[in-house]
Amino acid sequence: MEKVIFLGTSAGIPTLSRNVPSIALSFSGTNEFWLFDCGEGTQRQIQQADLKLSKLTHIFISHLHGDHIFGLPGLLATRGMLGIKKDIHIFGPIGLEGYLKSSLDYSFTYIPYPYYIHPIEKEKFTTSNMLWKEGDIAIDCALLNHYVESFGFAVIKKNVKRNILVDRLVSLGILPGPAYKKLKEDGFVKLPDGRVLKKEEFILETIDIKKFCYCGDTAFSANAIVLSEGADLLIHEATFCADKKNKAAESYHSTVDDALKVAQLARVKKLVLTHISPRYDSIDCNTDQHDEFKKNIKGTGMEIIQAEDFLEVNI
Ligand SMILES: [Zn+2]
Ligand SMILES: [Zn+2]
Repeated sequence: MEKVIFLGTSAGIPTLSRNVPSIALSFSGTNEFWLFDCGEGTQRQIQQADLKLSKLTHIFISHLHGDHIFGLPGLLATRGMLGIKKDIHIFGPIGLEGYLKSSLDYSFTYIPYPYYIHPIEKEKFTTSNMLWKEGDIAIDCALLNHYVESFGFAVIKKNVKRNILVDRLVSLGILPGPAYKKLKEDGFVKLPDGRVLKKEEFILETIDIKKFCYCGDTAFSANAIVLSEGADLLIHEATFCADKKNKAAESYHSTVDDALKVAQLARVKKLVLTHISPRYDSIDCNTDQHDEFKKNIKGTGMEIIQAEDFLEVNI
């Protein structure tokens, strides 16, 4: 099972209890993980969360505001100093490459492994569109609604389960053994007596799709709804309580209610609120509107969680 680990959940500046934004998506089996945003101090949060930098293979940057990128040059430098040679893919808005290059050049930092920067061109993502595909994983991306270009990401992972139809094989006199393993792995097997077994006849394939969506800094956005449609987990920013909706509008951020509305319209299963303004200890704001949304959401079975640093959520 995949899991998400919140490495930073504050908005703009770190507080004693919350670091600036970063989220790790960790894959079961390989222990590889991907990072979404990389605020200052993220590499220390990674250590504290017991993740291994050597297992980090992809980084997705939502936008170029400092609280989301100031940790990136340092993290890449540390990765080099630890002797990690594996390449890394970094996705982010146009401008990310220039920022990184300047930071690394002016600090005389050499990165001793290949790193590939994939600029996200906003014209291609005015609606939700595929950004990257790797094996059974596809990543969709869409432009959100922030003061500067800001992108949301959806990771869709297909898990194919192969169940051998044991009864059918046994009825043909083929008992469990190496032939079963080969049939499962290769899709066919030739038996010593010359018979050829094909997966179509002896394996039942079921596809289980898991979807995780991250909408970083944004005001209410229709694209966020499309991007997160049916997600198992939506992480949405909720910088302000509803009573600060003017402030949210001015700074192109969401209120708790905006995030709830997106989650409700997209019919997601679980919503985690993050990017909490340092003015709140907790974003559990009890406005009438908020109560109204909570009431509506009750019947849908949606789970709503407020993020904390190092919170882990299974997908
Ligand atoms: Zn931010
Ligand atoms: Zn921002």
